Amino acid sequence: MKRILGLCLALALFSCGDNEKKTTKKVVDHNVEFEKFKSQFIEELWKENPIWSSYEGFHDYDSILPIPNEENLQKSLSFAKNMQNKLNQFNEKDLSDLNRIDWYMIRDYLNSIDFYENEFKSYEWNPASYNLGGAFFQVINYRKDPLDKRLKNIQLKLKNVDAYYKAAKANLKNPTKVHTELAIEQLEGSKSIFEKTLIDSLEVAELDVEFKNHFKKLIEKAVHSIDDYVTYLKDDVLPNLPEDDESFRIGKELFEKKFQHQIQSAYSAEEIFKAAVEEKNRLHDQMYRLSDMLWEKYFGEKEKPGVILEQIQMVIDEVSKSHVHRDSFITAIRQQIPELEKFVIDHDLLTLDPNKPLVVRETPEYMRGVAGASISAPGPYDQDAETYYNVTPLDHYSEEEAESYLREYNDYVLQILNIHEAIPGHYTQLVYSNQSPSMIKSILGNGAMIEGWAVYTEKMMLEAGYGGDHLEMGLMYYKWNLRTVCNTILDYGVHVHDFTEEDVMGLLMKEAFQQKSEAVGKWRRARLSQVQLCSYFTGYYEIMQLRDEMREVLGENFDLKEFHEEFLSYGSAPVKYIRMLMLENAKNKVIKSAA
Ligand code: ZN
Ligand code: ZN
Repeated sequence: MKRILGLCLALALFSCGDNEKKTTKKVVDHNVEFEKFKSQFIEELWKENPIWSSYEGFHDYDSILPIPNEENLQKSLSFAKNMQNKLNQFNEKDLSDLNRIDWYMIRDYLNSIDFYENEFKSYEWNPASYNLGGAFFQVINYRKDPLDKRLKNIQLKLKNVDAYYKAAKANLKNPTKVHTELAIEQLEGSKSIFEKTLIDSLEVAELDVEFKNHFKKLIEKAVHSIDDYVTYLKDDVLPNLPEDDESFRIGKELFEKKFQHQIQSAYSAEEIFKAAVEEKNRLHDQMYRLSDMLWEKYFGEKEKPGVILEQIQMVIDEVSKSHVHRDSFITAIRQQIPELEKFVIDHDLLTLDPNKPLVVRETPEYMRGVAGASISAPGPYDQDAETYYNVTPLDHYSEEEAESYLREYNDYVLQILNIHEAIPGHYTQLVYSNQSPSMIKSILGNGAMIEGWAVYTEKMMLEAGYGGDHLEMGLMYYKWNLRTVCNTILDYGVHVHDFTEEDVMGLLMKEAFQQKSEAVGKWRRARLSQVQLCSYFTGYYEIMQLRDEMREVLGENFDLKEFHEEFLSYGSAPVKYIRMLMLENAKNKVIKSAA
């Protein structure tokens, strides 16, 4: 087969006429021009969004704090229009595969600006969107700039805080109760960035007394502006909101639109919701089957309860008792990473870059919120920095809290967590996306693809035989996967189907076997956010669909490792665009090999 393909290629080269040569040359030029456009786009994007740029590691505009007023809203709309015009001067079909995806991603981003500013308008109903703690933290924490410079930037930035909160107050029209409460809570916390973090840095800096005094005055004023805003929320806004305020539900129309802008799926939110409900039922069937098989091992002769969900819960509770000691939580994770790498290599699932070992560390203090594990990856401006797998030790937990946490992250779930976060999940995806560097994909990266990949790898590893013939591993995997599925049901349910607190508790505790504390947290998160909770399942669902399609197109020539590597080679792009290009390439391959 290969020889025939080579021959076709040679013939094609020799038959190149003048016309074709010109076209080839043109293709290259378009890409060069497009690269220039992308740089210009990013330059303008950061001018428009200085706070976002500091978060991404670009620090030229650290001294700027834009005021959220009408003037700046108009500026951002005209930025979108202006860039849209420039983008439209390129025909995406003239571009290379990777640039073509960048083109789509920029287009979609620019379209979303109008939606968020003119339709979604969270600046009118979410008082918590006016929180400057992070914006200042990103500046003071940028250790590549000398401390003096950082403090001078901050001094300039502080001057706008008062105007910022005055504009915030003026913007609020119909705040929701739950977002107002969140704002009050978070702003009290973020004040410590001003009063403590910034002042502590000022004390150790070698700057003259005059600067320091002036700086302190600005801090005082900024804290006063925040206090004033919080008092306004507490005394004027909150008492006027109904106790049973339900305005946090964004409704079907806005949910669908936000879903399209944020998830960028080929499916509608409603379709994904229906798929999730079906998936939940399938998972329950599988779990019931496994709990039957495990029953005797854990309960001997004891009679089964006769209620499907109860039986599953009982077996889960027993299996969860197998967990590591609280002191060896990090050690256990550290030991598993090389085992996962070995499994991936032995089973030929993916090529791993041996030059980029993952560093497992204790989560640094400033990043610790709730206990957990996360990947912290270098930003687009700092690609050579290490990637860390942060694991929060259970030091601050009482015996009871630690036990509950460890049962959740029992011996089986801990392995699935490591697959998801590290290998071949988030960490591996990151290594691949850094190999086809695109600033656009780093900055506008698609959350559903990123989460979807991590969720997909859990399933793929088990399909490849990970966990051996442990039925417990299967049961716990399904429980874990159920969380992802129920996140979608919950999100859509709360915003579109008016799910009540009771509905949500029932769904999460009875049908997804979660602890009460987790369910309470999710109910809150679902009211505060929209769409994001759908990203995990949507990405996973679309990757599974794509794998089926690729199998169908390529038949015997389908290769799992090739599928994974090609999929990841496009970077953190929406699955629907990766799908478009992968199917195109696969069909071309089939045509060529048939020729
Ligand atoms: Zn225990
Ligand atoms: Zn994840």
